[in-house]
Amino acid sequence: MVTSKIPHATAKRLPIYYRYLHFLSDAGKQRISSTELADAVKVDSATIRRDFSYFGALGKRGYGYDVDSLLAFFKKTLNQDQLTNVALIGVGNLGHALLNYNFHQSNNVRISAAFDINQDITGTIQSSVPVYDMADMKEQLTVQQIEIVILTVPSSVAQQVTNELVEVGIKGILNFTPLRITVPNTVRVQNVDLTNELQTLIYFLNKFGDEEENL
Ligand code: ATP
Repeated sequence: MVTSKIPHATAKRLPIYYRYLHFLSDAGKQRISSTELADAVKVDSATIRRDFSYFGALGKRGYGYDVDSLLAFFKKTLNQDQLTNVALIGVGNLGHALLNYNFHQSNNVRISAAFDINQDITGTIQSSVPVYDMADMKEQLTVQQIEIVILTVPSSVAQQVTNELVEVGIKGILNFTPLRITVPNTVRVQNVDLTNELQTLIYFLNKFGDEEENL
């Protein structure tokens, strides 16, 4: 189990380590040093050693890390051996794209229900996922034991929909809307603002370009 004592930054790196260890295991590699791992996942080796230290002494000096036991450990920690059902709210352009996205390939996560208010799509199946009316949200989330949702509604209704989600007992929201939603501290929010990410990239590229011109 990932305990609350693990820093957020460490928790975010766990899937990166997991994916690479999976790759190594598939390739038949039995051990890896923190330096090799650092090169591969582009995280410095001191950070890797510190991250791993939160889980107890997993590596041996002069030997490195045993790939399969590390993989088994991360698999358990990340709940990769369990299938996690997730719901998606708002089946617009972005919602559709995410329904099509194969989360299952890298993690045992799947979108098992989607919700919308648009009567043209409620009651249909989109990319193998049933789309329910918002009125059925509470019932479906309870029946399917869903605690995590992906939020892709317009930002004008994001807070109102969030309030409904909090009321039905959702524990985690992956928020794709640009709005910084307010939730009680029992609910965890991860923000993914694609426009913001792109603008940040443009900003850095422009800045870099200017510096080069000034050389
Ligand atoms: P995007 O690319 O951001 O998804 P879009 O133009 O496809 O944009 P939006 O207007 O952002 O669509 O709406 C996204 C989806 O959210 C739509 O399918 C819309 O019907 C749905 N939606 C709007 N209001 C609500 C609501 N209160 N509850 C649930 N779904 C909603």
